Amino acid sequence: MIAHVHVDAPVITIDRPFDYEVPPQFETLIEPGMRVSVPFGSRRLLGIVTGVSEGTREGLKPLEALLDEESSLTDELLDLSTHVKETTLCFRSSALLAMLPAALKVSYDKEIKGETLPDGVRAGTHLSEYPKETQSIILALAKKGDILLAPVLKEKRTVKTDLVIELIDATLIPARAKKQQEAIKLLKDVPRMYWSSLRQIGLSRAQLQKMESLRAVKVTEVELNRDPYATIEQVIETVELNESQAKAVHAIRDAEAGETLLLHGVTGSGKTEVYLEAIGQVVDDGKQAILLVPEISLTPMMVKRFKRRFGDRVAVLHSALSQGEKYDEWRKIKRREVDVVVGARSAIFAPLENIGLIILDEEHETTYKQEENPRYHARDVAIWRAEYHECPVVLGSATPSLESYARAQKGVYRYLQLSERYGGEMPPVHIIDMRRELAKGNTTMFSEDLFVAINDRIAKKEQCVILLNRRGFTTFVMCRDCGEGLTCPHCAVNLTYHQHGDRLKCHYCGYEIGMPSKCPTCDSKKIKQFGTGTQKIETELLNRIPEARIIRMDQDTTSRKGSHEQLLKRFEDGEADILLGTQMIAKGLDFPNVTLVGVLAADATLGMPDFRATERTFQLVTQVAGRAGRGSLPGEAYVQTYNPDHYVIETASEHDYESFYAREMQLRQVGNHPPYWYVTLVTFAAESPLVAQAEAELFAADFVEAHVAQSRLNGPMPAPLSKLKNLFRYQLFIKTKHPEALYPVLATLQQARAKAISKKEYQLSIDVNPYVFM
Ligand code: ADP
Ligand code: ZN
Ligand code: ZN
Repeated sequence: MIAHVHVDAPVITIDRPFDYEVPPQFETLIEPGMRVSVPFGSRRLLGIVTGVSEGTREGLKPLEALLDEESSLTDELLDLSTHVKETTLCFRSSALLAMLPAALKVSYDKEIKGETLPDGVRAGTHLSEYPKETQSIILALAKKGDILLAPVLKEKRTVKTDLVIELIDATLIPARAKKQQEAIKLLKDVPRMYWSSLRQIGLSRAQLQKMESLRAVKVTEVELNRDPYATIEQVIETVELNESQAKAVHAIRDAEAGETLLLHGVTGSGKTEVYLEAIGQVVDDGKQAILLVPEISLTPMMVKRFKRRFGDRVAVLHSALSQGEKYDEWRKIKRREVDVVVGARSAIFAPLENIGLIILDEEHETTYKQEENPRYHARDVAIWRAEYHECPVVLGSATPSLESYARAQKGVYRYLQLSERYGGEMPPVHIIDMRRELAKGNTTMFSEDLFVAINDRIAKKEQCVILLNRRGFTTFVMCRDCGEGLTCPHCAVNLTYHQHGDRLKCHYCGYEIGMPSKCPTCDSKKIKQFGTGTQKIETELLNRIPEARIIRMDQDTTSRKGSHEQLLKRFEDGEADILLGTQMIAKGLDFPNVTLVGVLAADATLGMPDFRATERTFQLVTQVAGRAGRGSLPGEAYVQTYNPDHYVIETASEHDYESFYAREMQLRQVGNHPPYWYVTLVTFAAESPLVAQAEAELFAADFVEAHVAQSRLNGPMPAPLSKLKNLFRYQLFIKTKHPEALYPVLATLQQARAKAISKKEYQLSIDVNPYVFM
């Protein structure tokens, strides 16, 4: 037999499977979707079997080991990898690997370089079943890579186990065995105990074995799922849906196979209740569901709602989990132990086999697009999988992306609306003109009105959320004498000032230096940082309201694992009056005691060189204002801006999505932007700017020659980030009305350059439907 294997190797220039002979002992075991170890040149690589056929061929190398007992990837996911490859122009291996949990894709070569696996070693065989000398070789190899060799053994070594001790007969323990008697006493109260608890009384493993051999207790080994939410109790509360919620659930239930529905519901309208109910019905039918949420909305509050409703039958996948925890969740899905998968972007690849519903919450979020290979968008993958499983997709948002709303207007998606808050009003939004504050001599980041409002809430023991719109806003350093900024020597960007350690850092390549005391260009001492960080704002707040209890959430305070959750928990428990933070606090939070929201520098994102800057600003202001007044207390929002008349600020503060959409669509049409055109961004990077430019020009010429119908080309031009990590960058923009005609052409042009790229003459990246322009 011959196995067709896609290998994980950056050196490959052609995207195709490589053939290997299947050794006879593997013939009955091998299946497409399994991970294998294969020899590749002088190395040993991780590969994924995408097909198996009968026959032999001269000179084929045998594959070395099967790394799975059963396929890691289903037939559906194997098919899907081809779709992802064709629509994002990545290698198939890259798409295949994106579907696996990190624990299963450690590079084989790195882990056991230069060593040879003994003959006959394969997945599913327990270590004890090998001859002694083989065992020691395996163990020596396994030591080097905790994870990778483990599948050769019976189970992952990342799996933690414990013993469960159950009382059978207390009378069998002799009275003089004091420790054992003590254990028995405990077991009489708690008839099933974990070893990890029982041993704490000082019982030894030998004493436990003694008790077992006397048949006084039964000992069983159990696998511990490192489920961080294991303690949440399942409670099936039946909420009474209001009329529009019930209508939405019905529409989802009655949807046609593969249909996409856009659920446009204002903040607090009860979209999550609709999800819970619709998923509940799917689960009752014996099917499964995926709910995708943006990483930052994957808060403990959100997870709790699902855990309470579906108990153990929910798997949660997010980046705060350790590799082992993620792998545990993934295996629960594989073993059909869950009905519902809740997770961030990559959870869209969950290996479920009978999907009845897929939901993307906050569908407008750009984090659904992966910014590295494979550059897929979870929405597109969801729609593909829904067609495969003949089930509906629901896209939910208070501020739908223009792309999705336009499709709903054309009838491509079915439109569902929740236009009112559940049991309440939308909070009034006050626009504050910061130019007037400046004229009054107020140079702080806070308007007088906002200070007064914050004071008032603190007095009433209510809570405030203050958001600093900081994207596109950095603290950089500039000399006031010569005007020179301090930039990274490897990248064409300003260095960012970090108060912690008094240092300057490049956020693109990691370069850092201590804050200089004088200007490197003119030696002037008048060198100083500009811009505003959350730390400075905290100081301003405390200067004015010294008794305020503030929780600051930004990259500095949330970098430790779990700190995000802890801070939110403290705020929820009322340990602070004010939650102050960057974009990460804008969404998903549902704190009933928050009655005031302040947005500082609401317009900071408007000036970004990106046609979506307006859309993002609208979304941000709407979402954050939506955090106010979600409980029984009425709320309000203050939006501070230097552009009070800008249509984005005006429509957002009136909660008027339709007017924003109408206005924005005109601009998109005039600018030939999405959703009128599909955009592809092609970036060339090389050590010499001339090479980058020349390659961009050659690509452009080849593209023009290919005559793709209804397509346009802009460029070459230097990229906004014209130098990154010592490479100079040029870009081409390609716009089309017919992506299906464009992508194969781009794939051919890309393939023609594979050799040069593998020789590192330059780098080429193709980003289909880009969200980041740099
Ligand atoms: P969204 O996801 O649209 O922002 P949520 O689903 O979080 O809205 O609902 C906002 C609040 O209203 C939540 O506290 C939720 O429990 C409550 N809620 C929404 N619909 C109902 C309902 N039908 N019955 C009881 N409470 C509801
Ligand atoms: Zn200077
Ligand atoms: Zn840099």
